[in-house]
Amino acid sequence: MVGKAGGIVAIYPGSFDPITNGHLDLLERGSRLFDRLIVAILNNTQKEALFPVEVRLEMLREVACAYPNVEVDCFDGLLVDYATQQGAAVLLRGIRAISDYEYELQIALMNRRLKPGIETVFLMAGEAYSFISSKLVKEVFSLGGDVSGLVPPGVAGRLRNHALLQKGKP
Ligand code: ADP
Repeated sequence: MVGKAGGIVAIYPGSFDPITNGHLDLLERGSRLFDRLIVAILNNTQKEALFPVEVRLEMLREVACAYPNVEVDCFDGLLVDYATQQGAAVLLRGIRAISDYEYELQIALMNRRLKPGIETVFLMAGEAYSFISSKLVKEVFSLGGDVSGLVPPGVAGRLRNHALLQKGKP
């Protein structure tokens, strides 16, 4: 499927709570593979997030603005429905380790069953980033560890602000 304005449109979906340098590496490589790449936050009310969707959108926009063919958005409901709405032919996902593969395979096969015309494309994580996850970054940060180099500077700043706010709470 080719997008409305021509070219291949891909969606890079995720929680991005928060975006890490591993996500950013995938975003950059994806921007070279596809004509238009939409980084889309799943507005998942069941999954408890550290940052509200609006803040996650802001953090994504700060880094995505360096890439003219990358957009940032959020969506509710089924990913394949959102992809169809956007005229996307590809879902982009990252694989860090075998543990990611099992989960990702299941999701990819389900999405193919729901919408056979849409392909999931996997990129291997960059060697320097394959150990980074949003969850681990949050854990390390909350225990006082240094997360610079793991997340974009704007994210590190927001993590610090968040921690300060928590400290100020009764
Ligand atoms: P989800 O909650 O959907 O797993 P994430 O925000 O954790 O969303 O991740 C979105 C996608 O980015 C997933 O495909 C995940 O495997 C991939 N990803 C996460 N961290 C990295 C990383 N360090 N390197 C490459 N891909 C990554």
